[in-house]
Amino acid sequence: TDVQSDAGSFNDLLLPQPLVSALASAGFQRPSPVQKAAIPIGRVGSDVIVQAKSGTGKTAVFATILLERVALDTSTPQALVLAPTRELAIQSYQVIQRIAAGLPDPQPSAAVFVGGLPTAEDEKRLRRTCHIVVGTPGRLCALVGSGALLLGKLAAAVLDEADQLLSENFYGDVAWLLQQLPSRKQVLAFSATFTAELLADLEPLMRRPQKVLLCEETVSLLGIRQYYKLVDLSSSSSSSSAVVPEAAAASAALVDAAVAAVAAADAAGSSVNDAVAAADGSGRQHSGDVVDAAAEPQQQQQQQQQLSIKEQQQLLLLKVDALLQLLSTISFHQAVVFCNRKPAAEWLSRRLTAAGCPAAYLSADLPQEARMAAMEAVRGFRVRIIVSTDVMARGVDFDRVNLVVNLDLPPDAATYVHRVGRTGRFGSRGVAVALLNAAELDKLRGYLADVRGGDIAPLPASIPDDFY
Ligand code: ADP
Ligand code: MG
Repeated sequence: TDVQSDAGSFNDLLLPQPLVSALASAGFQRPSPVQKAAIPIGRVGSDVIVQAKSGTGKTAVFATILLERVALDTSTPQALVLAPTRELAIQSYQVIQRIAAGLPDPQPSAAVFVGGLPTAEDEKRLRRTCHIVVGTPGRLCALVGSGALLLGKLAAAVLDEADQLLSENFYGDVAWLLQQLPSRKQVLAFSATFTAELLADLEPLMRRPQKVLLCEETVSLLGIRQYYKLVDLSSSSSSSSAVVPEAAAASAALVDAAVAAVAAADAAGSSVNDAVAAADGSGRQHSGDVVDAAAEPQQQQQQQQQLSIKEQQQLLLLKVDALLQLLSTISFHQAVVFCNRKPAAEWLSRRLTAAGCPAAYLSADLPQEARMAAMEAVRGFRVRIIVSTDVMARGVDFDRVNLVVNLDLPPDAATYVHRVGRTGRFGSRGVAVALLNAAELDKLRGYLADVRGGDIAPLPASIPDDFY
């Protein structure tokens, strides 16, 4: 509500009346602070770096700027939106479409291009009029490389989740794409976090960018109640009967599945972190590279090395029981459950479904159709729980998520903030619960030491219902 109470209208931003009406019919009645601050600067053509916490409405900032910008008498692409994941690309495309649909004819047209779907379709679509191109870097590079996507008329480029687009996985593709654009173009960069490193990375790609930094909202988890529940092997023998009644009843099959899940993750090299696998899915789709993520999640491996495989399995089972208990006691609209590893996430979604809590599974290794089907099932409320890896942790917006569960300790503080940021979007409130053992809790406390709003408390017996 703090975000929404900031009154004013899109009219105040001097936008053309048809665009104001189109924004209103798309559900954007009054601009959020970041929209108020960034749209006026962006629409005059300056390069802009926009930093505001997740869920504050950055998508509509660039959607508005681009929709006003494109010239409808030219049929080739004039604006490019780059996103680090397929889901995010599709989501941004949908927001652009929603607003464009409220504009008078002729309407600007947008199209989305992501890895995992046949390029033949993309090429067909690019032969028709398309003003705004949205997509993941890998696929867009491939389409530019094959000559299907012509960039000669490009006037504006958006880097959404810029910090991730400039990470190792994408930097090559992103820099190459920007080089293919006319030199006189506007670059708009969006991120929830803002660091000296990001600024340095953006430097060569932008021209004297203006900065819109909603500083007091930097990496803040205000408005999100954060809890932890200790799930410890040592304490399990004494307290499990009360706390996790199902632990004792865990069937052999269940244990086998957990064993298989953990073993599969190890066989696949547990270092393959899903954020990086997501890069494989979108960023490297065109080249067919196999992802090699050995460097990054080593910490994660180290942390888990302290537990034997068997102990990891037991811990997983205890966490699942704690999760089932949580889902049955807390009233939530939609929940996102994060796991670090894909096999565990997939197994968990099946386990939850079998236990009467239908859950979808979303990960970068799913075929694109399955990823989209999972997103739609959640958006359409056919399932209210989505189990995911970090492919979801950035930017993906399910309106009604008010519960985020961390089944594993995220690999770092930024990932925790992004995961937990799936709730509390646009001023609504939410609850985040981490199911952790004592060592993991220690690390999480370390992560949160410097984060505004990073207070975390033990999960109470019941959570008041006033958090929506
Ligand atoms: P960000 O990119 O900053 O993380 P999003 O653009 O995904 O945030 O917006 C988060 C949510 O807020 C979306 O559901 C979006 O529809 C909603 N939203 C954004 N701007 C407005 C607005 N001006 N009025 C109402 N809802 C808004
Ligand atoms: Mg966003």
